[in-house]
Amino acid sequence: MKITFLGAAGEVTGSQHLIECGKLRVLLDCGLFQGHRTECRHKNETFACIPTELDAVILSHAHVDHCGNLPGLFKAGYRGPIFCTAATADVADLMMLDCAKIQEEDSRYLMRHRATNLPPILPLYTIEDAEHVARLFEPLSYGEWHELAPELRIRFRDAGHILGSAITEMEFREKGDIRRVVFTGDLGRRKLPVLRDPELIDDCEILITESTYANRIHPDPGDLKAALLKIIREVHGTGGKVIIPAFALGRTQNVVYFLNELYNSGELPKVPVYVDSPLSRKLTAVHSQHVDILDDDAQKMLHEDEDPFMFPGLRYIGNQQESIALNKQPGSMVIIASSGMCENGRVVHHLKHGISDPKNIVLIIGFQAENTLGRRLVEHRPYVRIFNQEYPLKARVETLNGLSAHADSEDFRWWCGHLGRSSGISQAFIVHGEGEAAQAMAGILHDFCDHDPIVVKRFQTVEV
Ligand SMILES: [Zn+2]
Repeated sequence: MKITFLGAAGEVTGSQHLIECGKLRVLLDCGLFQGHRTECRHKNETFACIPTELDAVILSHAHVDHCGNLPGLFKAGYRGPIFCTAATADVADLMMLDCAKIQEEDSRYLMRHRATNLPPILPLYTIEDAEHVARLFEPLSYGEWHELAPELRIRFRDAGHILGSAITEMEFREKGDIRRVVFTGDLGRRKLPVLRDPELIDDCEILITESTYANRIHPDPGDLKAALLKIIREVHGTGGKVIIPAFALGRTQNVVYFLNELYNSGELPKVPVYVDSPLSRKLTAVHSQHVDILDDDAQKMLHEDEDPFMFPGLRYIGNQQESIALNKQPGSMVIIASSGMCENGRVVHHLKHGISDPKNIVLIIGFQAENTLGRRLVEHRPYVRIFNQEYPLKARVETLNGLSAHADSEDFRWWCGHLGRSSGISQAFIVHGEGEAAQAMAGILHDFCDHDPIVVKRFQTVEV
């Protein structure tokens, strides 16, 4: 059996790994490389495998660095099945369409601003490619073995990372032997709201594991609910707004769920709450359709509350006019809008109108990369530039970092420790992590593997 690491090797985007066993060729994930435009364009356009020769794709979850280049794979000729959980199929459908829309918009913008003698700048793929590839999804249930071919069966286990995310257990039959491969996808955390904890796995010969935050310890996610309540109580009655920039997938649903819990317990002050992002609205609806795979607390809530993502006083904003109208609406309110780093999307407009009022509070709940508006807010700059104009930052900015959806070093030690103790891992390959994080993961795995864990390089092929 051969494994070739085609992406997310030494970096955290472009997840893609090829397993060849006998005549079978299986691709794990087909993610988008993200970062510097020209470099990524080349990496995303050039498949190192032959798409038409693949027998199947197995998709771990619906973040774009894992599913975002499936439309590109379709464009390059792939027409086989894409196996994933039902929730992943629904979320990935929306995420790929959103990506395609951005690609088409970017292409139109660049075409308008390019010199006329240069060749056209086409989108990486189109909305049509995204729509077509979504028809190849073959949803499989969690927890059961599924025979995909005489030589391969797989079982999805909950990875606890985002809705639908899966750890994939694979059994390849090779010359009378059974080879057991486990791919973590992105591993989640214990005690995250809404999602179940990552499932423990008992049996593994070859492990392919992510390592994004293997060198960090995250704060507890539970603090956010108390902080939300405190902040909303502060603005209640003062006419102030709470503006929460949030990623459309994951963070938005976390915040809405906490607010719903506060509503159910009677603690939430009477302040209107608006989720102002078309993508967030659609993704939250997908969460409501898949409540059966949410965690025990959400299951308990479902006994008395049929939708954990809806409560009186909450409104999902649809069109742009309604969004603009919020800026003129008097009184206290909570606005949850994307994007999470305040670089684009409707939250930028709310910040423009809101950050110069000392009654308002901006609540930052996610990582803010350098050179983003979100980072400038976190740094409490006295003035910030929005749409080419300077605005004094008089609103209070609060930062809470407990909601990372990735396992930290303690979670990895817990999860890998169980795997190592129950069966022993013969060989581990470390992907989806930058330098120090990947090395830290090697340190964690060292005690549980028969052979030294390997931090893989892009295009490296291993015979196992
Ligand atoms: Zn992910």
